[in-house]
Amino acid sequence: MDAFPELAAALLRWYEQSARPLPWRVMPGSDAQPDPYAVWVSEVMLQQTRVETVQAYYARWMERFPTLQALAQASEQDVLQAWEGLGYYSRARNFWKAARKVQFELGGQMPHTRAELQRLPGVGAYTAAALAALAFGQDEATLDGNIRRVLARLFDVDLPARSPQGEKRLWQLAADLLPKGRAADFNQALMDLGAQVCTPQSPRCLLCPLQRFCLASQRGTQLQRPVLPQRKPVPHLTVTAAVIERAGRVLIARRPPEGLLGSLWEFPGGTVEAGESLPDCLRRELQEELGVIVEVGDPLGVYHHAYTHFRITLHAFACHLLSGEPQALEAEALAWVLPAELPNFPMGKVDRQIARRLLGGQR
Ligand code: SF4
Repeated sequence: MDAFPELAAALLRWYEQSARPLPWRVMPGSDAQPDPYAVWVSEVMLQQTRVETVQAYYARWMERFPTLQALAQASEQDVLQAWEGLGYYSRARNFWKAARKVQFELGGQMPHTRAELQRLPGVGAYTAAALAALAFGQDEATLDGNIRRVLARLFDVDLPARSPQGEKRLWQLAADLLPKGRAADFNQALMDLGAQVCTPQSPRCLLCPLQRFCLASQRGTQLQRPVLPQRKPVPHLTVTAAVIERAGRVLIARRPPEGLLGSLWEFPGGTVEAGESLPDCLRRELQEELGVIVEVGDPLGVYHHAYTHFRITLHAFACHLLSGEPQALEAEALAWVLPAELPNFPMGKVDRQIARRLLGGQR
């Protein structure tokens, strides 16, 4: 505990020299004030996604929705389209709902405190604390993946990082270390140290400004910290999708708002059941989902994708309607669209690949 102020000071000195110049960030030593909306955009995008990937999305997003007001006034479909490719779409939907709440119920003023921020849709303990500290300078510690790793190593925490006891210990350490009045720089310094020096597989301890304080480095336990749960085998699903064409248009369906890829558009289809052939699966799924009988025609490609908890191999086929008029029995909505219009409909990665194939892009 006695070394905590010294540790914080060493980290802040390093940050003054090594802070990453990120477009939403006020650099150490600058008198500029952060744009709370820009910080919020970055924090939502950075959940589950690396800084390098986020930067291009962030620039496009800020061009399209430069203010919280612009985001609140956009349609959900526009928001999902701008988010397309970042995955975890509930982040975008919740962010949009939260922006609307701030704009239309709270007079356009973002709340400043962690407790108030946490009452907004999709804003959990981490994001609320990060926004309070980074956007409003409140004395709040926070805990993202990078910070968790750095603290677990500095203090050689042998509790599983995601267990209630492990979380409690790490939040406590983060709070104890926080130098009053420097929360924005301090939290960002921990994040940058985790991203650049104390990396998951090859921490660069010899270059680390905190090495003399670091228990894991002294004990050689860096790679065992944080203690992570054993990875379970990832299930693999075989999935089918149908491209049904009529008069030059193709049929797409909008998924229900809740759940995986909520409110995104897709080519209808579903998961192959045990003992079922690919065409049998498509015929069954389209009867259940759309109330139609189809003939399964030519294959239109095989696509692979890994989600967080499972992987899929998707087989697409051209299908021809034999009887029935498609109805949205399970989808939110159906649309017959020209292939050239497909880019206007937000989709997940695999469906976008099929759409590109239809457009002749084959990417
Ligand atoms: Fe991480 Fe090594 Fe620095 Fe410890 S000394 S914080 S393990 S980089």
